[in-house]
Amino acid sequence: MAAHLLIVEDEEKLARFIELELMHEGYEVSKAFDGREGLRLATEQNFDLILLDIMLPGLNGLEVLRRLMQDNPTPTILLTARDAVMDKVSGLDAGAVDYITKPFAIEELLARVRVALKLHGKQSASGGATGEKAEKEEGVYTWNKLVLNDKKREVTFDGHLIALTNREFMMLEILLQNMDIVLSRDTLLEKVCGYDYVGETNVIDVYIRYLRTKIDDAYDVKMIQTVRGVGYVIKSE
Ligand code: CA
Repeated sequence: MAAHLLIVEDEEKLARFIELELMHEGYEVSKAFDGREGLRLATEQNFDLILLDIMLPGLNGLEVLRRLMQDNPTPTILLTARDAVMDKVSGLDAGAVDYITKPFAIEELLARVRVALKLHGKQSASGGATGEKAEKEEGVYTWNKLVLNDKKREVTFDGHLIALTNREFMMLEILLQNMDIVLSRDTLLEKVCGYDYVGETNVIDVYIRYLRTKIDDAYDVKMIQTVRGVGYVIKSE
């Protein structure tokens, strides 16, 4: 079954162009030209991924995103203006899985769509395996008593649910995926915030600190190691 995507974009030509490209890739596509219509469709139907423009008439993209995440969380990629750094930050904090800056090459958008569907898509090939089998499931990473389940977007320690923001989750997942490999701040920044992120790499230190508070401090473990002058690593035990 093809993934079903929703485009919310008031530039109708751009929306149609993206729609054609996505359909060419084999996706099923719906579109809305303003925020309210987008929110209505997103609430009524079950999309695998939403491409959401931020600058929208009526109800802006961030507001659509916030309401969506409250009532009907759906993986969302934001389409943002080049200099709207705050929009990107607010958007990711509000639960978007990624953003792409306009103007973009269509190949890049398609690549991000593929990645987002792979990492966050609601469709799961297998499904059903839980409990003891969890560790062997695809998209499930473990360290000590910590279990990160990508499909469920859930992190637990010894069975206790840990509430992480979207970026904290991404950061933890990247570190777990690269177990025993030291990742530089630049690498983490690129993976968590996007390669064209404009800002300080010390934003990474901030997210590491949040993770340590929520995991290392809370469960008295030393999960995320600092490699001085290089970056961060989670070492297998
Ligand atoms: Ca717009």
